[in-house]
Amino acid sequence: TEACLSAIEEAGALNAFVHHTPEIALEQAKAADARIKAGEAPSMCGIPLGIKDLFCTKGVPSQAASAILGGFKPEYESTVTSQLFDAGAVMLGKLNMDEFAMGSSNETSTYGNAVNPWRRGNDDAALTPGGSSGGSASAVAADLCLAATGTDTGGSIRQPAAFVGITGLKPTYGRVSRWGIIAFASSLDQAGPMTKDVRDCAIMLGAMAGHDPKDSTSAELAVPDFEAMLTGDIRGKVIGIPCEYRMAGMPEEIEALWAEGTEMLKSAGAEIRDISLPHTKYALPTYYVIAPAEASSNLARYDGVRFGHRAKLAQGDGIVEMYEKTRAEGFGDEVKRRIMVGTYVLSAGYYDAYYNRARKVRALIKRDFEEVFAAGVDAILTPATPSAAFGLGEMAEADPVQMYLNDVFTVTVNLAGLPGIAVPTGIDKQGLPLGLQLIGRPWEEGDLLNTAYALE
Ligand code: GLN
Repeated sequence: TEACLSAIEEAGALNAFVHHTPEIALEQAKAADARIKAGEAPSMCGIPLGIKDLFCTKGVPSQAASAILGGFKPEYESTVTSQLFDAGAVMLGKLNMDEFAMGSSNETSTYGNAVNPWRRGNDDAALTPGGSSGGSASAVAADLCLAATGTDTGGSIRQPAAFVGITGLKPTYGRVSRWGIIAFASSLDQAGPMTKDVRDCAIMLGAMAGHDPKDSTSAELAVPDFEAMLTGDIRGKVIGIPCEYRMAGMPEEIEALWAEGTEMLKSAGAEIRDISLPHTKYALPTYYVIAPAEASSNLARYDGVRFGHRAKLAQGDGIVEMYEKTRAEGFGDEVKRRIMVGTYVLSAGYYDAYYNRARKVRALIKRDFEEVFAAGVDAILTPATPSAAFGLGEMAEADPVQMYLNDVFTVTVNLAGLPGIAVPTGIDKQGLPLGLQLIGRPWEEGDLLNTAYALE
């Protein structure tokens, strides 16, 4: 814990940690020492973690990297963090992210972006650690913590993990409680571990997962011993390669990485099968209707009364002016864009044309996966991202839709509620990490982790 705390001090330029909690960390570390001395060593005992700013942590600023939550210190602890602490984990501080988890580069954060510890060849230009869990990715990759929590609504664990060369898992929707995690799009959001390797991922998922009566969408299923399932034996498993993920204009290196990963699984004894997920092309537009719709509803609670920031009011201002001024000051541009798109697609005249249609297409996307799994496929292998980490400023200045294209391989998994994992599998010509994604059957994270283990 002490080594991590000093590494964090030295790595200020990465802007990964946005709130530091050294007192809490040292106290938790002492308690962990005492538990070990007492012969009790739960799975995360003494493991120093970074916590994404989207998790409510009792008495510690929890702002979702938004100005509108300025000064907000929750009175309660999220289920995930409280389970991690019960398992002996240590919190070093809160990690940077895109505002309300909306973004793919960490550039929508009110704290300014976190930075990727990797560089392109000899080029000094700073690169994005990805988003929205960019601070988590940067901190784990730079050894500022042993692992971090992330959340994934459309790829926010897997894309940043791939951009910094670490492992990140989005569990099946309902595997991990969402209680106490600041909501973005409730039917898509899921928290998961971001770790150095698959084994750490299995151990940490075990501590995060489980039924929670405070989240009605959390599943009443036992949590298996994921670590014990890592045998590396994948003989006879069927791995699907979906033709729709072979996109025009995909960099050759990604194509080559995908072929290499396929070969690796094949030589480990898996059967490789070409498959089709025909509704994949509708996934991005579907996601960018549903996610903003849910966000616009979830973010209505930030009104200047209940949480965080309230704008200074002028003489004669009423409640409407208070809402308007607070939201104008408190929300960033991308969040405002999502709220406007979301309220539009939910409005009386457009609800059927956009929101309802998107829900129907979502069902078709889910059915594509169900059919493939019913035909005997155990896991699906795809690239995690369409490129390696890009330069800061490169995409943000382009059209926002350009940024949304980053999620092309990951959003289907959230729309279908499936588990997905990004595994670092290669280095590109410029020396940047690249990752592959494995998508598994619902609730079979253990199997998925084991296949990822064979790929690592
Ligand atoms: N990049 C996607 C978005 O901006 C996904 C974000 C996420 O998974 N939280 O919505």
